[in-house]
Amino acid sequence: MTPPAGWQARESLLLAPYAMHAADSAGRVHLEPPHPIRSPYQRDHDRIVHSSAFRRLAHKTQVFTGYLGDYHRSRLTHTLEVTGIARTLGRGLALNEDLVETLALAHDIGHPPLGHAGEDTLDELLADEGGFNHNAQALRIMELLETRYPDFSGLNLSREILEAQAARVKGRPAAGIRPAAAPLLETQVVDAADSIAYDTHDADDAIELGLVALEELLELPLVAEAAARAADRYGPLDGIDRRRAVIHELVDMQAGDLIKQSQAALARLGIDSVASVRSQQTAAGQPLRIVTHSPQVAAGKKDLEAFLFRKVYRSKRVMGVRLAAQAKLSRLFHWYCAHPDSVAPSYRERVTTVGLQRSVADYLAGMTDRYLEWDYDRRV
Ligand code: MG
Repeated sequence: MTPPAGWQARESLLLAPYAMHAADSAGRVHLEPPHPIRSPYQRDHDRIVHSSAFRRLAHKTQVFTGYLGDYHRSRLTHTLEVTGIARTLGRGLALNEDLVETLALAHDIGHPPLGHAGEDTLDELLADEGGFNHNAQALRIMELLETRYPDFSGLNLSREILEAQAARVKGRPAAGIRPAAAPLLETQVVDAADSIAYDTHDADDAIELGLVALEELLELPLVAEAAARAADRYGPLDGIDRRRAVIHELVDMQAGDLIKQSQAALARLGIDSVASVRSQQTAAGQPLRIVTHSPQVAAGKKDLEAFLFRKVYRSKRVMGVRLAAQAKLSRLFHWYCAHPDSVAPSYRERVTTVGLQRSVADYLAGMTDRYLEWDYDRRV
């Protein structure tokens, strides 16, 4: 049997010239010998999957806090949906799929328990300490909080992963690496896949939870278009069959639109290298994203998001559970600040370097929703 070609040969064969080739990576902070089989980004992928922050996504809330049944998405299943969609986009544009998958798997590891409700609470509690943000927290996890190696803290990921994560932190320069540059196309497709996934699955989860009816959603042009496509493909459907068909057409429509628009933009702008991706700017001198939707789909997504905000994220039921959960998180934070010896040892060790409040927040942010409930009941 002929041995498989090395990853460098495979990447040169399959990737477009504007894709990020692992051979051109800026490397890792701590030097490591190359792996005989895995590419650098494949190793990064495995480091994310083996991290405890990633495992805990299984029991963290996406939108719907508290036990409301087992139908709706957790952070982990959201992450896997994003990864699948991002891989399709990456393959459609001949990008580096190892890098795309790594960025997608890592994109939400910084979320604390209770979703955005938990994030807002920690941000208020840490107002005098620089606040709390899930994107900044993901970077802390990658660089500091995960300890997998005896010689250093963090996961020692490739610089492209850290750069992509740093670019998500608003108001903060990208860890000294090309702060003004446009993101890699691999980063751009992951951001787009995140939006495709949550716009679609939050609508689906909201129907399941009885917060909205499919008929209300069908009044939105984007959803109506998906329903028309479903009808073309399957003929007349109703009930759950119709809902399922509309939901997968919604994903397919957005992904297809994005690939088509992005291919056209790559050709129009004459993009032929990573350097040309990075140097794209808007007329106002801001980094320009090449991966975008058509104006029609972009407008449709905006309508859908406004609808979800009004009817779902700010609904009485979601807000009520949210306030109760936030109160618990806040009380537990104050309890640990008053009892620092009870903070888990690895977090307690950092009190001298990052301060008590930040250490307590790091500890609480790592908790899953169910651990937080359990810990609250035993502590407070
Ligand atoms: Mg996400």
